Amino acid sequence: MINVTKSYLPDINRFKYYIDKIYDSGWITNNGELLRNLEDKLKDYLGVDNIILVSNGTLALQVAYKMLSLKGEVITTPFSFVATTSSLVWEGLHPIYVDIEEETLNIDPDKIESSITANTSCIVPTHVFGNGCDIEKIEYIAKKNKLKVIYDAAHCFGVNYNGSSILNHGDVSIISFHATKIFHTIEGGALIVNNEEYFNKAREMINFGFNNGKVIELGINAKMSEFQAAMGLCILDDIDEIISKRKKTYEYYQKCLNRKSIKYQVINNKCSMNYCYFPIILKSEVELLKIRDKLIDNEIIPRRYFYPSLNTLPYVKNCSVMISEDISRRILCLPIYNSLERCEQDRIINIINNNIS
Ligand SMILES: *Cc1c(COP(=O)(O)O)cnc(C)c1O
Repeated sequence: MINVTKSYLPDINRFKYYIDKIYDSGWITNNGELLRNLEDKLKDYLGVDNIILVSNGTLALQVAYKMLSLKGEVITTPFSFVATTSSLVWEGLHPIYVDIEEETLNIDPDKIESSITANTSCIVPTHVFGNGCDIEKIEYIAKKNKLKVIYDAAHCFGVNYNGSSILNHGDVSIISFHATKIFHTIEGGALIVNNEEYFNKAREMINFGFNNGKVIELGINAKMSEFQAAMGLCILDDIDEIISKRKKTYEYYQKCLNRKSIKYQVINNKCSMNYCYFPIILKSEVELLKIRDKLIDNEIIPRRYFYPSLNTLPYVKNCSVMISEDISRRILCLPIYNSLERCEQDRIINIINNNIS
């Protein structure tokens, strides 16, 4: 069976080397040596001044909302993973959906201002599939209307915008290190906080609100363990190879798929790519279901990322966001991962080319 993704597992002996260190020290969580080591290496690799590692990307979002004391309405994208919305609702915030651009699949900045009210506190856009939003326009609107910006940069490992890390934008950017992402710590994530006062506050908040052994504010437990950090250290050693292998797979799909009837996400030209997903946009949902079923018949399991559009979730107030709903019904992510063989990719390509109208 070929799945949409396959978690990368590093050489087991290198993982054991770190596990032995954990056993020797007896220190298994709570800001341990491996975690600090991984934070330093990630700052260097990603080109960010600070990073706070946490136990998953969803909690990173929740901590960011609490840290910035968000209230009321938050403008966000309907075309993202469910966690972008569920984290808001979980924190008692009201998601207000602004439609996406058909080409980039990111929130349409020209439609943001008409959705701002006296109750709006923040904008939470997603850099969808690692494709950078129009950051300049979003920051301009946020500044003008005194709103915070938190980027869901879950897909953006190693992505640069105008030549430096995309994670340096917004009041906060969050990233996910879940097993399905290109760089992972089994479960994990991080906050990149672009203000020192907030950075210190976030550090306390992820550890029950402790500062020097004393609780000084409301906190939660969002800590990453040493075992997770060990996985991250191993994978970071291999990351350049992982990304370059994915690039080859990505480009081979683009070269061999019948381009006439397939549309692709248009990549922001200020943005570098990490090849984390390979989405194709088909003519209709009927065609999508046909292709998906043919692939499944051949034990190839693509995924409908992102479907359905988040404004249709049962726990939010529905409103119509036509482009997002339309794209959600027609977009399919094809298998892309490190160990995907060329012959397997040929099979996928043949099935699609032979069944597309
Ligand atoms: C994966 C993902 C998340 C959640 O991250 P977890 O680490 O799985 O909690 C949030 N937003 C987007 C866009 C994601 O793809």
